[in-house]
This record gives sequence, structure tokens and C-alpha cells, in this order.
Amino acid sequence: MTNIIVAGPRGQMGQEALRMIARENHFKLVACIDRKYDGKSVANIPSLPKIDAPIFTDAKTCLEQVDAHILLDLTIPDVGYKHTKLALQNKIRPVVGTTGFTAEHINELTTLAKQQKTGAIIAPNFAIGAILMMKFSQMAAKYFPDVEIIEKHHDQKIDAPSGTAIKTAEMINEQRTPKIQGHPSAYETIKHARGADIEGLKIHSMRLPGLVAHQEVIFGSEGQTLSIKHDSLNRQSFMPGIKLAIEQVIELDELIYGLENIPYFRN
Ligand code: NAP
Repeated sequence: MTNIIVAGPRGQMGQEALRMIARENHFKLVACIDRKYDGKSVANIPSLPKIDAPIFTDAKTCLEQVDAHILLDLTIPDVGYKHTKLALQNKIRPVVGTTGFTAEHINELTTLAKQQKTGAIIAPNFAIGAILMMKFSQMAAKYFPDVEIIEKHHDQKIDAPSGTAIKTAEMINEQRTPKIQGHPSAYETIKHARGADIEGLKIHSMRLPGLVAHQEVIFGSEGQTLSIKHDSLNRQSFMPGIKLAIEQVIELDELIYGLENIPYFRN
């Protein structure tokens, strides 16, 4: 049995994750970390599944006192970073879906996980189709070095570009030499018109109600384009990846950043 603490249980991802945990016989929700309802049971909170597990508003107390193997964090960047650090300090393995961690946060947490000999997975995208989109894009970049990324998300997302777009750009850039694309004399009449830039690769971010998480990677060459596209239509799309990460992190003693780097996808 894998004992799991969920941080952010009332969020859209958190609610979906609680339902997934309730469905899996080998997973057990042992506590939640929330901003409200200290001392109450999850079962008594409207809209949450009828699971009898205590809610803590103080993450430190929760992670020190509860007998847990995993912290699943689905909150906001600053809070998720603090939770992940506390979990590692208590040798509880973090599985982090929260996006927007800085490179400094990731580096610091990687060092801490190594010191604590405690596995961790931080994944900007848990949709398995999105992992394949990134891998296929990396393959294509060898043959099509001119490429741009369009990512589209719901309008409540606070970070831009998305973690997935940044990760895709990094994977593509491992495959191609840095390249300034477009006309050498190109200029912007309105600032940022050409989007964000990672080593010459442009990322364009859209935020609209109705969207969930969508990305298209478009390669261009003489007389042809190649589009690799993935759509998450709802938050259920992330649950098989979260389940997989919880199962795999138990076997790890270091931090892995990106679901594409877990042993399951390496072989
Ligand atoms: P959401 O609906 O806004 O949920 C965020 C939750 O975090 C809310 O319940 C919020 O509580 C809670 N929270 C904020 N501060 C907190 C604190 N101090 N302690 C405990 N909980 C706190 O967002 P979402 O769509 O569920 O997404 C959650 C995170 O997952 C985001 O970072 C998002 O970018 C990320 N995400 C990742 C993936 C992936 O595949 N990795 C996919 C989708 C989303 P209040 O309601 O009280 O503010």
C-alpha cells in the first residue's frame, strides 16, 4: 500500500487526483494539505470524495506527523516549492505537478534529494501523449531545424510560457545548433510580437477560457511543414501519468525532472 498526502485537494487537479487515488486499490490517501478546513476530514468537505483523511493547514506538521510515502503537490509555484523541500527533509517522496518552478528551485531540490537519498519527480506535464509529442519533436528537430511552438491554456494559468513548452524547446535545442530563425533584419513593431525566445526558438502563449492544455510544434522547410500536436481535453488526461509517477518514484533515490526522463520512458 502506498500512503499519499495530497496538497491542493480542492483545486481542479487535486480533485481529479483524489478520485484517481480512491479508485486504485494500492493507493491510500492519508492526509491533505489545504489552506482551509484544518482538522476536518476530507469526507466532510463538499465536492471532495468521501475519504476519511485529515486536513492540515500547516504543511510542516502534516509532513512531520503523518506516516506517508508520497507527497503529491498540485498547488502554486512558491507553495509547491516549500512543500517539496519539506517533504524531502522528511524523506517523503514528492511527485510534483505544480508548474512554474524556477531553475534555481529545481537545482536546489535536486541537490537536497541526493543528500536525503530520496526519490522525487517534478513533471510540468503528466499527459503521456504530451511526453510523446515532446519526444517526436526532438526526433524531428534533427531533420527540420526551423521550428516554433504554440501553446494554449485556460485563462487561470499564471505562468507563461508553459513548463511543457519550455521543456519541448530545451529538448529540441539538444538536437539542433542554436539558430536565429526568420529574416536576419526582422524587427518587432509591437514588443513581444514574435513571442518568447529560447536560443532562437520562438514560443507563443495563448490564454483563453474553455481551453485546458494544448500544444502544437510546427517545423518548416522548403515547400513543407510538419505539425506535432497534443490536446489535453480535461484533467483526467493527467491521471495515468500521475499514477505512473507515484509507482516509479518509490524505486528512485534522486530527483527526476520531466516525466519523459523516468525509467519507464527511457527503455
Ligand atoms: P487550481 O484549480 O487553481 O488549484 C490550485 C490549488 O492550490 C487550489 O486548491 C488552491 O487553494 C491551492 N493552494 C494555493 N495555495 C495553497 C496553500 N498555501 N496551501 C495549500 N493549497 C494551496 O489549479 P489546477 O488546475 O488544479 O492546477 C494546480 C497546479 O497543477 C498548477 O500549478 C498547474 O499549473 C499545474 N498543472 C500541472 C499539470 C501537469 O501535468 N503537471 C497539469 C495541469 C495543471 P485555494 O482554492 O484556497 O486558492
